[in-house]
Amino acid sequence: MTVCLNPHCPQPNNPDRSQFCQTCGAKLLLGDRYRPVKLIGSGGFGRTFVGVDEYKPSHPRCAIEQFYTPDEGRSSHYQKACELFRQQAIRLEQLGQHPQIPDLLAHFDQEGRQYLVQEFVDGQNLAEELALTGTFDERQIRELLENILPILEFIHEREVIHHDIKPENIIRRDRDGQLFLVDFGAAKAVTAATLGHTGTVIGSAGYCAPEQTIGKATFASDLYSLGVTCVHLLTQIEPFDLFDSREGKWVWRDYLVDRTVSDRLARVLDKLLENPLSRRYHSAREVLQNLQHSPARAIVNPAPSVSPIAPSPSPRGELVPADEDLQKRIGTSYLLWVVGWVGISGLHRLYNGKIFSGALWFCTGGLFGLGQIVDVFLIPGMAEEQQAKIRAKLGISERGIPLNQQAAIAQTLTPNRHDQIAIKLLKAAQARGGQLSVTQAVMDTEIGFSDVEATLTKMVSSGYVSIENDPITGVVLYRFNEF
Ligand SMILES: [Zn+2]
Repeated sequence: MTVCLNPHCPQPNNPDRSQFCQTCGAKLLLGDRYRPVKLIGSGGFGRTFVGVDEYKPSHPRCAIEQFYTPDEGRSSHYQKACELFRQQAIRLEQLGQHPQIPDLLAHFDQEGRQYLVQEFVDGQNLAEELALTGTFDERQIRELLENILPILEFIHEREVIHHDIKPENIIRRDRDGQLFLVDFGAAKAVTAATLGHTGTVIGSAGYCAPEQTIGKATFASDLYSLGVTCVHLLTQIEPFDLFDSREGKWVWRDYLVDRTVSDRLARVLDKLLENPLSRRYHSAREVLQNLQHSPARAIVNPAPSVSPIAPSPSPRGELVPADEDLQKRIGTSYLLWVVGWVGISGLHRLYNGKIFSGALWFCTGGLFGLGQIVDVFLIPGMAEEQQAKIRAKLGISERGIPLNQQAAIAQTLTPNRHDQIAIKLLKAAQARGGQLSVTQAVMDTEIGFSDVEATLTKMVSSGYVSIENDPITGVVLYRFNEF
């Protein structure tokens, strides 16, 4: 398929090899070279497409960013926007020198619209990865920080603020697992600057630093958003729910159900998330130095079990695998009990007048008592660990705070395709107060109509979802009984 680049085209889908749009006659290829094949995002006056490079023999994919003004190039706004877009393009070309930022391939002005063509990073973004494999552990969070902080250092040295660090904008390339930082939002920046929306906030709600929400982003604002990204990936809870607005502080620790985080990492995350700029890190380098300093051994919120979906090795020297410890203690307790049992047989012999085996009783009986004493001291600890396991199963935090439905479900379902769709539908339904129409579901989840319908039907047959009609419009609504 080829997608027509005209934003007003009523029927933009065209056959694979067409040169001109069948509906509006517009030229389909960008610069006679890049063919847009799929629209993947739109907002304001910008749109993003996946394209293919027809000049290269293997037809590699590329990302095409389009920017247009409402008057299509006729006003002075447009001249200003063109100039700004050119500046953004130069900047992106410089940034593309970093191996973990997509290369800028081309910059065009075609039919009164501006275009940037960038290297396409084929892989999953971290939001998709989170939905698939569940919460990240300390090792994964450290890997993320150690990968992204040097990129931030690189762009900050070039006086660029990313403005929109979030899981969706970090992509893990399929080929080699390399993490990429994407979406430097040239179109968003130009829209804000040229259309008189001076107070326009660029960024995503929930991930924005306080100063960024009033239009005063600094380099530390990117570090703050990276901190929010980390605590979201650790807990799979939306940033809004991780912030206690009454107390004005982040409460991400309450939501660490089956995860342990070393004291050092916890302190780094807290400092990334400080509200006052003065108490936050000032550079990416400072964070890296703090992170790489000798590892601490203390543990925040120790809990015994490992996530059922993403069991990963605990980083040695950082965390104590609680299960191993518990098993060892149970083993010792049983051994003492068995020795004690032999001691009781000794008592029986003493009663029968057998002095030697009776004496044995004194030794083993003593051990039996010792076993009991050890039990008295061990059992409370074991009970506490069992409680932590039960809390993890019920999905409540140490303080009894119920965790989001989706978090619990994402951790227990096997990640097959239907379940992934079901999880996305659940989240969408939750955001809409527990019910959805098929159209809303397709819009919110960006999953195809037939997949959404098939999954909803399956959920209805399992009693998870019931069908009703909207009393006013008559539209079929799927009510999620869970909510
Ligand atoms: Zn068209």
